[in-house]
Amino acid sequence: MTKVADNTPQNIAEKLTDISQQLEQLTAESPFTAKVTLVAVSKRHSAAAVKQAIDAGQRHFAENYVQEGVSKIQQFDDAQLSWHFIGPLQSNKTKDVATHFDWVQSVEREKIARRLNQQRPAELAPLNVLLQVNIDDDQNKSGLDPAQVDSLATFVDSCEHLKLRGLMTILKGQTSAEQQRQSFIKMRELYQQLQHKFGASIDTLSMGMSGDMRQAVVEGANMVRIGTAIFGQRE
Ligand SMILES: *Cc1c(COP(=O)(O)O)cnc(C)c1O
Repeated sequence: MTKVADNTPQNIAEKLTDISQQLEQLTAESPFTAKVTLVAVSKRHSAAAVKQAIDAGQRHFAENYVQEGVSKIQQFDDAQLSWHFIGPLQSNKTKDVATHFDWVQSVEREKIARRLNQQRPAELAPLNVLLQVNIDDDQNKSGLDPAQVDSLATFVDSCEHLKLRGLMTILKGQTSAEQQRQSFIKMRELYQQLQHKFGASIDTLSMGMSGDMRQAVVEGANMVRIGTAIFGQRE
């Protein structure tokens, strides 16, 4: 039996419209956020699916495998698009990320930040950086302990070819709605501390995925990373 594709062009466009409308309603409900950037997570989805999203007006995309991301970036070669790297990053892959991506949301080590700074081509705009925080202290997740944020932020802020923009988190799965809310609140507080210290250049709090987008935005996310709810299940 052939699997019915649920990512037809109409579907992707409709889902993007639907999510944008939800985001507008949620920002109206939230005292903490006025506008949310929707990042479409296209990992393990085809370039054809990405093309459909682009045709529907989507501009921000995220990948978490370096090779797959670079290949899509080169294929589209479109300066209007912003590409976000959101996966675990090893030293031997930093050059590809520094050369091709616009954002890295998963910075958690000084060594990686230093390499990204050295390898970012000088003719490009600084690479936008979010520090990934392991807010639930989940052993299966990467990210900084909240207590380590300040020192890595200070380092990234000193890097000429990096631009510190804020924080990113992925919550632990299978916790209650109330636990999720508490974690999002902790992230918001950390983010506000960072703004207090580094000023208005800190403007991005990336939290919320297909399963927990609503609560994240109500608690102050201004960037969400949505895969499944746009493109359907991954292969
Ligand atoms: C895959 C992924 C997402 C998107 O998850 P969905 O549940 O498909 O929306 C968001 N953020 C990161 C870091 C991811 O790896």
